[in-house]
Amino acid sequence: MAPKDPETPGFSSLGLTASLVSAVTALGYEEPTPIQREAIPLLLAGKDVLGQAGTGTGKTAAFVLPMLHRLAKEGGKRGTTRGFILVPTRELAMQVAEATHKYAKGQNLNIVPVYGGAPMDLQIRSLRRGADVVVATPGRAIDHLKRGTLSLANVQVLVLDEADEMLDMGFADDLEAILEQTPEEKQTALFAATFAKRIQAIAAKHLTDPARVTIAAEKQAVGKLPKIRQTAYVVSRPQKMQALDRILEYEDPQSAIVFCRTRLEVEEVTETLQAHGYGAQAIHGGMLQKQRDRVMGLFRSQKADILVATDVAARGLDIEHVSHVVNFDVPLSPEVYVHRIGRTGRAGREGVAITIVDPRQSRLMRNIESLTRQRVEIAALPTIADLRARRVTATVEALRATLGKGEFKELRAVVETLAQDFDVVDIAAAALAMLDDSGRSGAPAPAPEEPARYERAGSSDRPQRGDRPERAPRGERPERGRGRPEPFGILRIGAGANAGLRPGDLVGAISGETGLESSLLGRIKIDDEESYVEVPESKMRDIIAALRATKIRGQKVQVAAFDPTAPRR
Ligand code: AMP
Repeated sequence: MAPKDPETPGFSSLGLTASLVSAVTALGYEEPTPIQREAIPLLLAGKDVLGQAGTGTGKTAAFVLPMLHRLAKEGGKRGTTRGFILVPTRELAMQVAEATHKYAKGQNLNIVPVYGGAPMDLQIRSLRRGADVVVATPGRAIDHLKRGTLSLANVQVLVLDEADEMLDMGFADDLEAILEQTPEEKQTALFAATFAKRIQAIAAKHLTDPARVTIAAEKQAVGKLPKIRQTAYVVSRPQKMQALDRILEYEDPQSAIVFCRTRLEVEEVTETLQAHGYGAQAIHGGMLQKQRDRVMGLFRSQKADILVATDVAARGLDIEHVSHVVNFDVPLSPEVYVHRIGRTGRAGREGVAITIVDPRQSRLMRNIESLTRQRVEIAALPTIADLRARRVTATVEALRATLGKGEFKELRAVVETLAQDFDVVDIAAAALAMLDDSGRSGAPAPAPEEPARYERAGSSDRPQRGDRPERAPRGERPERGRGRPEPFGILRIGAGANAGLRPGDLVGAISGETGLESSLLGRIKIDDEESYVEVPESKMRDIIAALRATKIRGQKVQVAAFDPTAPRR
């Protein structure tokens, strides 16, 4: 896990309270995104803000952090609703409330989401307990206001998030009715994806001398973009790790940088890749310089072939041989994308840039295309047949090379003996089939439940940090994924880092007890007291039963399915 590092210079320079800086540091954020850099100081200074930013730019933290800062500094009547955030949809309400909860860690504030489609009485009870910050959809906010279960009389900071969406959804009148119930004296921030006329009209009516924040595209970096093949794969969040596995297997990069947004994500992705047998190393701003130098030494000397990095850590690194850049997430701004992909395609080599895109982030990809004026091809994930075709091509290339060198003379006698009974072409084809790790080139992909031929990741042979795993000839490489990625469920295990648990223990226990191939597992997260593993949904019950019946690291552990959408308080 990431070492605790109280310093996140980028954030501490914005003027936020120490508690907020440590909250974002604990989440692994290394520096503010452009919208955060622009909007936070203005909001801290008490200005109204009209911000242009869409999903995936970090806009939630851009308004929530200053809101929490002001609530902490200015006090007001505790237990009354002092922060109020209006959002268009139920999903966004949950998401924003969850983010606010995380940023407010240690502040003892009650954050209550209220949205339609959920039982009214539960929400009323939560509101009665005192809600310092309410995140609401307009319709449900009106319901509560009418019933008198929500009061906006003490609101100090109001945010209209995705205001354009709210107007598109026909909430204009509701918005007016809600805003009427807020006090004159308050700070208001309005965020929208565009500054369309109707947004400007609302701003003119409800914001006081607002500062405008747009994320202007820096054009200068673009001209220098080298020749890079750019591809995007649209993959839903739970399947990203499996997709990354498949992509790495298919691309077989000589040397790759996988970029993640946060330190925590870097740690998780690195540990999962290591558990799946890759020579991956982490680098992020929370590591000591000495550790970073060591990792860079391994990567430069190609002892580690995958570097998993945050933007901050990778900045300024000059590495010539990077064949692939993989964005595990769409970067939070187009400029960051340009910087990232510029790490490959150096010294006249051809580079490959791959981006894993959450379906909700397609707008960000369009922004990127318009900044770079280059197309990013949207591709389907490589299938098993693609992987196999790739392997066969590689084997044939290797065979041509061996034929060229003529280093097989002593084996000719063996073939000559076989040729007395078999056709020579058949003999050669059979030898190739044996090289292909499926052993049945062209046969249908084996079912996922087939026992792993893949070395158990949890075994003592597991590559340690810094070791480069022995690279088997391609034909002998384990097959990492089979068929299309299956939906994941999340398994919660009642033991974590404090019990000395490592990702390899979990992978080992699951594949050892159920025969499930380790590459079919998704992300693994080890917290202090508990751990989470993404597992194929269809295998969830079997895995739970098997793990309950066994011990992990010598101890019985609690195992259950985990529902991340279930309400937590
Ligand atoms: P949003 O645009 O607010 O939906 O945020 C998109 C994602 O970026 C969320 O998962 C945030 O947790 C994450 N995020 C926000 N700010 C930062 C930052 N400064 N560094 C890294 N990740 C961030």
